[in-house]
Amino acid sequence: MHSQLNVGDYLITDATKRDYISANYFVFGAPVKDKAAPPPPEAVAIGRKYALFSGLKNGATTILDPGGGPGDLADYVNIVGEIGARVFFSPPYRSSDIFTDAEGRHHYEARPDSGRPGLQRAVEFIRQYHGANDGRLQGILNPAQAETCEPSLLQETAAAAKELGVGIHIHAAGNLREFVQILYQYRKPVVEYLADTGVVRPGTVLGHTVFIAGHSRLDYPFGDELKILAESGAAVGHCAHKYAKMAIAAESFDRYVDAGVLVGLGTDTYPLDIIAEMRYASLISRLVDKKYYGARPDRVFNAATIWGAQALGRDDLGKLAPGAKADVVIVDLRTTRYGPARDPITALVEYGSGADIDTVIVNGEIVLESGRSTRIDEDELYARADAAAQRAWNNWSKRDWAARTTDEILPPAFPTRRE
Ligand SMILES: [Zn+2]
Repeated sequence: MHSQLNVGDYLITDATKRDYISANYFVFGAPVKDKAAPPPPEAVAIGRKYALFSGLKNGATTILDPGGGPGDLADYVNIVGEIGARVFFSPPYRSSDIFTDAEGRHHYEARPDSGRPGLQRAVEFIRQYHGANDGRLQGILNPAQAETCEPSLLQETAAAAKELGVGIHIHAAGNLREFVQILYQYRKPVVEYLADTGVVRPGTVLGHTVFIAGHSRLDYPFGDELKILAESGAAVGHCAHKYAKMAIAAESFDRYVDAGVLVGLGTDTYPLDIIAEMRYASLISRLVDKKYYGARPDRVFNAATIWGAQALGRDDLGKLAPGAKADVVIVDLRTTRYGPARDPITALVEYGSGADIDTVIVNGEIVLESGRSTRIDEDELYARADAAAQRAWNNWSKRDWAARTTDEILPPAFPTRRE
């Protein structure tokens, strides 16, 4: 999940959008160039804190953060210290950016200031802060996404990760536009392209990896990207709910696992609820495969725990065992939501929500008790996050290519009138 307010995610199902090939982050992540002002520092700080805390409160003791808004990095480390989560992070970078022109068309533009200097900045961050907050802050390199990073930048990323002894996260095969871009530019599908740069290996997490050879929306039958992934030891960050919002699914969670691919679960969108995410992963895999006895609770539970830990190269996380970190989530199953629960893991996967969590312990410290933070004022945090998000939505037309308001892009469920 990203450490930001995710105000753009609200618009992900853009009702005006007919060029569906560029659905997903292109809806909000590609502003008109001269209107692309960075969010104010106050909004960045509140977004970081709100998202990281929200993930923790909903049961994620360890968070992989591929980056939120640009902001002060020492401040980031302080926020992680304050809320009490375990977080893998360094500032993201890319060698080209995506912008929208006055007609709403997307184009890529080289960003020499963000590629190599960005990698350098991330390396410096990791040198300075890896292991901070009693080891809860861990470095990971974040080249932003497959088609915005040139091959040489990815090769340098692989070398830097090796030297630092940290992993890599990159968004990959998450969008049709990206698939087409890489196919045109490098004449390969996304995972093949990335594998040739050296980043697909143990310790690397490929976010999403939905549009691979054989996916029903691509009509691209060449190659076997699941085999490449399985043999590489790299992991897939599977975010089923976010894609279901856009009527897209990986095909399928079960098929990836059966092929031997290491799969961890992610949220990437609200609710940042890793408990509910297990259910989405399970149900959507069953729907895709038309197999009612698919994506069983043991599998999605492993993907949310030990496989996720393995994806980050950690065998001391994601389980309760001698020598493992004391990262514990205690859930109250004795509520009417569950009915009488026969098997706790099955009940949690089939019916559970982050709202049922009573206690969260990270690194041996109780950071959530009776469902409330032991460290921060949650009500104040929510009020500040809400105000910052409303401000961003109210000003959305200033960054939109056609000066549309949020209500025009995504009309309210029912017409409303204020007097
Ligand atoms: Zn993402």
